Amino acid sequence: MAYASHRSPLRPPRPDLTLARDCEQCLGWGTVVTRDGDHELCHVCQPDPADTEGPAASGS
Ligand SMILES: [Zn+2]
Repeated sequence: MAYASHRSPLRPPRPDLTLARDCEQCLGWGTVVTRDGDHELCHVCQPDPADTEGPAASGS
């Protein structure tokens, strides 16, 4: 995977757009842009991801 060109985060946030749809904070995007220009999950509508890595859960 090539993540070099843009200053994208290593793990692009995967917001739940269903939750974000009615959110006024992120305007339905599910992500917000930080001062550093990074995208992160909207804290208002998106559940705290905590750690999505988990114990090597394979599959989809
Ligand atoms: Zn939101």
